[in-house]
Amino acid sequence: MQLRGAVDRCRAASAAKISPHRSKHAPGPLALRGRAFRGTLLLTHLHWDHTHGMPFFRSGTLPGNRVDVYLPEQGVDPEELLARAISPPHFPIRPKQLGDGWTFNAIEPGHHEFEGFSVDAPEIPHKGGRTFGYRISDGSGTLAYLPDHNPISLGPGRDGTGVYHDAPITLSKDVDRLVHDSQHTAAELPRLGFLGHSAVDAVALARRANARQLALSHHDPWRTDAEIDDLVAQHAAAPVRGFAARGGMVVDLP
Ligand SMILES: [Zn+2]
Repeated sequence: MQLRGAVDRCRAASAAKISPHRSKHAPGPLALRGRAFRGTLLLTHLHWDHTHGMPFFRSGTLPGNRVDVYLPEQGVDPEELLARAISPPHFPIRPKQLGDGWTFNAIEPGHHEFEGFSVDAPEIPHKGGRTFGYRISDGSGTLAYLPDHNPISLGPGRDGTGVYHDAPITLSKDVDRLVHDSQHTAAELPRLGFLGHSAVDAVALARRANARQLALSHHDPWRTDAEIDDLVAQHAAAPVRGFAARGGMVVDLP
């Protein structure tokens, strides 16, 4: 199973892309090598850094494309909802003008099937709009995707970094890889937690859920590469191995 998680905080296309196509090409942002994308794009929520990369998703605009976009149901037509930010005067075109190959759909929390993958989508505490996490599996490999998660909104919890509530633990239980919000450090959380994100201490969540590997994602935009390397090194002895997710990274699962 191959899943492409575009977690580039700068180019702002953070979503779980599911395609039944298995690429043998080298990892990198051009993994599709000029071929059209045919698959499903799962949006966890609609903040700018998770949607504004869509019009620049080159493989999604090539002839022969099929891009089925799914986002959390919130009582408004999904294309109309996206157009609130992707339309004039903010942007030259609306989402539907990306082409006939694009569809825009809404899903409720629960279990779904996409492209032959099993997808569980519970609601996750974040800030400013309904947010889902995703657990995606093809029966042999499983990935949990929680790029924006604010457990401290439910209370400080035992470690002061948020409550270990059921949704992320169930979502991450025994997964091969957990991709998780790592925007802040525990020390920064009292000052910046109002923004709706997590501390790097997601490593404790990964341990509780028995995740096999943790991809630290959604880093603070001001964090330097050296600082991110240092944060990863601080958790090098943790029972769950962690690494820093980066834009263009392609993750192969068992
Ligand atoms: Zn967000």
